[in-house]
Amino acid sequence: MNPLLSPRNLFPIGYHYLFDPGRVTRYSPQRMARYRDKALRRVVRYAATVPFYQEKFAAAHVDASTIHGIADIGKLPFSSKEEFVHGFPDKMLPKGYRRPTMVVSTGGSTGKHLSMFVDFTVAAEGIGAGVRVLTRHNLNPRTTRFVSIGNFQPGKPDAVSSDLLHAPAQSAHLTRNAREMSAFAPIPELMAELDAFRPQVILCYPATLQHLAMMKKKGMGEHLNPSLIISGGSVLDSYARKVIVDEFHCPVINSYGSTEGGIEAAIAFECLEGIWHVNHDFFHLETIDADHNVLSDGERGRIVLTRLYGKATPVIRYTGMEDWISLCSDYDCSCGMRTPTLQGGVEGRLSNSIFTPDGRVYPAASFADVHLALMKLGTQKVSQFQIIQNSLNDIEIDLVFDESLRSSGPSVETVIEEVRRIHQEKTGPTVKISVKEVPSISAPTNKPAPLIISRLSAQELEKALQNEAQSSH
Ligand SMILES: [Zn+2]
Repeated sequence: MNPLLSPRNLFPIGYHYLFDPGRVTRYSPQRMARYRDKALRRVVRYAATVPFYQEKFAAAHVDASTIHGIADIGKLPFSSKEEFVHGFPDKMLPKGYRRPTMVVSTGGSTGKHLSMFVDFTVAAEGIGAGVRVLTRHNLNPRTTRFVSIGNFQPGKPDAVSSDLLHAPAQSAHLTRNAREMSAFAPIPELMAELDAFRPQVILCYPATLQHLAMMKKKGMGEHLNPSLIISGGSVLDSYARKVIVDEFHCPVINSYGSTEGGIEAAIAFECLEGIWHVNHDFFHLETIDADHNVLSDGERGRIVLTRLYGKATPVIRYTGMEDWISLCSDYDCSCGMRTPTLQGGVEGRLSNSIFTPDGRVYPAASFADVHLALMKLGTQKVSQFQIIQNSLNDIEIDLVFDESLRSSGPSVETVIEEVRRIHQEKTGPTVKISVKEVPSISAPTNKPAPLIISRLSAQELEKALQNEAQSSH
């Protein structure tokens, strides 16, 4: 039976859908603080019925009833990705949990496979954090033609979200204008489908968006003129953003989510001022250093996530995401939202960063300056690139040239040399930078090709991190 036709489900989802997105501006800071305290109490009390947390709380001598609000969160133990992996499935739900659950899985960039339980409460109570991205851009989520281009393989977050919410909503005629398309369809096919549907909003991976922009440049997708593009799944670098904005002439924003954060909800998203707002009525974020010390505002560290809604498997002080962030705990933005923010956005994943021998760490987006070289030379003849760090002193940059632009503008050799020069300047002379043309860049079967591939050994990474710690103190 369609779960949305049951009043038990339809009423709460309608409520969350209508009222949660506006909470961020409707609530005063005091009321929001009370709301967050209450949400945390509810989540912790529920977690105390889940064997995984029962064991963790007992080991840390924490009584769930002593957690009164966010100010007490430091009493709770951290939970790691490894612990989540080991606890699954037996310990991750309360004994005799009655709601139907689904399992969502993520490969993750480090290759450790994480599976966790989600259910209708996670989908429904998190929906406001996804819808908010639209309403903040003055788009009506019920009438806007919206396409989600993602990974709909069974068990992936997009597919689970589709099964739990979007497919039932569609068949109950609650939404008529939402479509799902596979990011792994051949790009010309995808473009044709998009051209026919004419979405106003596109949610998609940055790499796929970049491919679509290249097709648009070649004259395809004539009727595809979205008013907002939301990039998700990985961070949109400035080069890709420029290519996409140039072709689609509409705002392109980053939305930041994770499988652990819930299947519907954005943890943070960019407003039109370019500020990354945290959905703090859905999540509480902290940052920690390598020794698990909690860092203050403005200090860069690994993200720690607490999900303030939903049942199934709760997520409390979870350290398993690899992203680096620097928090500002209270920012009154000119866009009208007052929230914590991620200063400078999400700095990409550790395994996707470039390290230099003198201890500097460049997140993918800030190292890759291929666009800078192209802008200087006044050309767009590189359609894709990838940076491979073979060792601390050896970095390789692969460029794919656009065949139709090959013979115009500066020569391929000039572009290669300029790309090399710009990156050499960044790393200093001790690093060997080799740039070469490749016919194509291969992507994993169910993911877009990564911008950075790091082949640093664990020892080299550790050494580099030690250097970094020394140079920043
Ligand atoms: Zn803002």
